[in-house]
This record gives sequence, C-alpha cells and structure tokens, in this order.
Amino acid sequence: MIASESVGSVACDDDVRGLAEPLPVAAPGTLKFAPGDRFLPELRRRVEQYFASTGRRPRDCPAMYLKTVVFFGWLAVSYVGLACWTESAWTSLPLAISLGLAMAAVGFNVQHDGGHQAFSNRRWVNKLMALSLDLLGGSSYVWDKKHNAVHHSYTNVTGHDDDINIGFFGRLSPHQPRLRFHRLQHFYLWVLYGFLPIKWQLYDDFRDVLLGRVGGHRMARPKGWDLLMFIAGKAAFVGLAFGVPLLWHSAGPVLLAYLVTSWTQGVVLSTVFQVAHCEENASFPLPRSADGRMGAAWAVHQVETTVDFARGNRLLSWFVGGLNFQIEHHLFPRVCHIHYSALAPIVESTCQQFGVRYTARESFGTSLAAHFRWLRRMGAAAAEHDSAFEHRVP
Ligand SMILES: [Zn+2]
Repeated sequence: MIASESVGSVACDDDVRGLAEPLPVAAPGTLKFAPGDRFLPELRRRVEQYFASTGRRPRDCPAMYLKTVVFFGWLAVSYVGLACWTESAWTSLPLAISLGLAMAAVGFNVQHDGGHQAFSNRRWVNKLMALSLDLLGGSSYVWDKKHNAVHHSYTNVTGHDDDINIGFFGRLSPHQPRLRFHRLQHFYLWVLYGFLPIKWQLYDDFRDVLLGRVGGHRMARPKGWDLLMFIAGKAAFVGLAFGVPLLWHSAGPVLLAYLVTSWTQGVVLSTVFQVAHCEENASFPLPRSADGRMGAAWAVHQVETTVDFARGNRLLSWFVGGLNFQIEHHLFPRVCHIHYSALAPIVESTCQQFGVRYTARESFGTSLAAHFRWLRRMGAAAAEHDSAFEHRVP
C-alpha cells in the first residue's frame, strides 16, 4: 500500500485513486515511511462510502465555482479601488487591507485547490486555478514542488519540509539550531510573518529556480511553457503591483500600499498554516538513523504532524478554504475542501479506533495561543537540551 512505500513510488487502489495519494516527490526515494497497517485502507473505504452514499462528487462542486467568482470579484473590486480610484489615505488603508485579505482568500480557496488538482476533474481547470498564484506574485511552478511534493510528503520533517524553515529568523522545529534572539521569537515572528510574501515574491522563487533546489530536494528548473509562465507571472505581478498604480499615484503611496497589502496577506497566510503544524500537539519526527525510515506509516505521519482548529466556525472555514481541517486536507489533498467538514468526523473516529492521535483545537484563538506557546518553547534556552524533542514532542 501507499503508506508502506516511498512516497516517490505510489501504488494506489484504482477505485480510490486520487483521494489519498501523496503527489510524486521531487527526489523520489530519499525518505521512506514505515509499512502501513489497515488504517489507511479503512479510512479510504469509509470516505469512498461517504461519496457513494451522498452522491456527491469529490471535485467540480458548484459551491466551489461560486466561491471562485465571489473571491475574484472581491479581489478585483479591492484592486481597482486601491490602484485606480482612491486618492485619500483614509480609503487607501481599508482597501489595502481588503486587497490583502482577498489575495489570501484566493490563495486558500482557488489556487490551493487548483494546485492540488482538487478543484476539478479537468486538468486545464486545475491548471488555470493554480496559475492564479502567479497573478498574486508567487510561482505556481515552485509552489507545486515545494508544497505538493515536499510539504505534503515530508510534513514537519526537519531538513525536508521547507514550510517549517524560515531561515535564521525563527526556530519552528526542535531540530533546528537555536540562536540567542529566538528567545523573543514568540513576540516578533508575528510581525515578520507579514513580510514573508514579499520575500517569496521577490527573492525565494528566483533563488529556488536558479539553484534548482527546494527544501533540501532537487527541483527541475522550469523549461519551455513553465519557464514562460514563471517569467510572465512575475512580470504581470510587478505590473499590477507597481506599474498600473504608478499611472495614478506617486511612488511613495504605491510602495506603502504594496507593503500594507502584502503584510496583511502574509500574516493571514502564515498564521493559518503555522497553527496547523507548529504547536504542542504536532509531532516533529525524524527518520531513524539506522535505515533512514520514518517510524510511522505515511497516513499516521500526516495525522500526527497536523492539527485541526475551529471546526465549528463556518465563516472561518469558508474564508480559509477548509484549511482549518488540515488533517483531512493532508490525508485527502485531491478532494475539494468543500467536503472536509463532512469528512472530519469519519477521519476522527477512524483515528480513535486505530489509536492514531487526532488533535482538533476548539477555536482559532486557542490555536493561536498554542502556536505562541510553541514559539516560546522553541526559543527558550532549555529547549536545546530537552530529550523529549528527539522524535516526538508530547
Ligand atoms: Zn496543501
């Protein structure tokens, strides 16, 4: 089964193909998981039963197409208002915040589902939705390797998962080196999270493409159509972020609007992703030194390195594209996020039955507090010598 093999060489039951399989990794075979038991097959059977009994489709959901229209409408109104209409700082500020939130919403909902091929059964629809990231300033080509291939396969494995690597700015994993100033990271990182999109848009993508590496894994440099889209996407973003607004405004306000919009987007994107993986109830396992294998099977690894939050908050679930059901997303990345709330009780009860630790925080506030405590703990001097961090954090 999939859980017993390297995620680079997936073999999957035909009837559930595409539901739970991790997508191919950038460097197949670099990390293997423990053999799987009945957990994943049973989970798949129950999820398949849900779709069969409800008659719902895993992808191409009308609600998803409606959301796409709503979020792109919000994005367009905010952008046109900010770039071409407003003259006053009093209207620019709320419009910049609104644009940052709309960009995050398009990312969470449209780009993320498209990038995971969870939006539609038609490849071109998924590709088109995934390309919305290029319009938002990030490269969909690099994202596919970094998020799909690496983060979703090697979740929370230090040295592999690039999502838990923010360089020397902070220590998110117990296996990263601690610097003296990390003792204050539970205060300052919230502010720095806001600047991550700027780093991503203007530096990270170019570095990854030039080096041909992401998260310690080799990445084929884009060629042909992919390279054209990479260059066209970056040019389109620079044109939208700076070129068009400069036709109406001077450089100072344009730069300030870019900073406020990016910072808003960055804080929202980062916190939603960080609270799902970097907190007390998420594991940070390492491969065994003897044979390089992970101690857990792939599916168990996904559940135990991930945390759900605010599952009863329908507005938040709608805005964050179901990413508060992060466990369900990691197990079934090719299922449209519209279904996650219905799948959560199935996943939770199956985890209980198989003794797999499943964590769901009550609210977004409790998750933020858990992330704060985690940052404080990772930044504390004692954390460097805490043996409890060796393989699993209690
Ligand atoms: Zn994802």
